[in-house]
Amino acid sequence: ARLANQIAAGEVVERPASVVKELVENSLDAGATRIEVDIEKGGAKLIRIRDNGSGIAREELTLALSRHATSKVSTLEDLEQILSLGFRGEALASISSVSRLVLTSKPEEQAQAWQAMAEGREMEVKVQPASHPKGTTVEVADLFFNTPARRKFLRTEKTEFGHIDEVIRRIALSRFDISLTLHHNGKPVRQYRAGTLPSQQDKRLAAVCGPAFIGSALRLDSEHHGLRLWGWLAPPEAARAQADLQYTYVNGRMMRDKLLNHAVRQAYGDRLPADGNAAFVLYLELDAREVDVNVHPAKHEVRFHQARLVHDFIYQVLVQALAHRPA
Ligand code: ADP
Ligand code: MG
Repeated sequence: ARLANQIAAGEVVERPASVVKELVENSLDAGATRIEVDIEKGGAKLIRIRDNGSGIAREELTLALSRHATSKVSTLEDLEQILSLGFRGEALASISSVSRLVLTSKPEEQAQAWQAMAEGREMEVKVQPASHPKGTTVEVADLFFNTPARRKFLRTEKTEFGHIDEVIRRIALSRFDISLTLHHNGKPVRQYRAGTLPSQQDKRLAAVCGPAFIGSALRLDSEHHGLRLWGWLAPPEAARAQADLQYTYVNGRMMRDKLLNHAVRQAYGDRLPADGNAAFVLYLELDAREVDVNVHPAKHEVRFHQARLVHDFIYQVLVQALAHRPA
């Protein structure tokens, strides 16, 4: 069992940052409003995610650590309208096969918290009582300790932590309504407070993207025939100073989508700086049935059923936003 999970882990668990992404997405799926991420040594030594979400019942703990045990997809209907972030049911099992993973959880209605970990070649799950408030903590220690070849590919602590920081930024921009903290080696590094008012959104944007971006960015929000595009867009002259600041979300998921990028580039037209950099944080919202998110296992790509329509909508909204900006 461990070997099969390790093979699966090869696809999901590339580096500490991918572990953080999977675990935080699980916390979001569990309805958490507060997520704390503690990292030691760039994640090579420890990744700990605590949340105040719905928790996992004692009798579900073993299942949660087994492969293809997802509680999130039960019917074909679900598959067509996947709203939850994780749905492949293998993240915990995979991560657990290449680390020392401890899962501790308490649902509201359960008096006692319980803790589970998988051991040995057969990944037999051991469960014991623990102390924990409502919610879940996943501790991942010594990532890749049993796959030395993978462990060797880990970069410096600083580089790996940088990737984790980036994952947290992307998530911070996807959910203004939750609070997120990030610690490294015991020191607080990021503290994103919850708040969905425009002023609070601006504050988070400044914290994530820097005050320069929010200072110059145009705010936009347009809706047409069930499509909504909102967010922030740096005018071309300001974009110059902002390399690599391109965040796009489709129905709340971070995407690097070709169609979206193409529409944005076309909207900037020949005003795009010579280095091709544009800076934007954009949210596209549409009926979940109009998009397939299952195209790529890493879930970064989507397929729109009405690609042309979506492309033209984005293009139009951005052209208008760029035209109406104050001189
Ligand atoms: P998936 O997210 O694709 O369902 P995972 O391996 O990531 O698969 O998680 C397995 C299951 O464990 C989830 O379906 C969920 O029921 C449970 N789970 C994992 N993390 C949490 C969490 N933080 N809070 C509540 N339940 C969780
Ligand atoms: Mg998951």
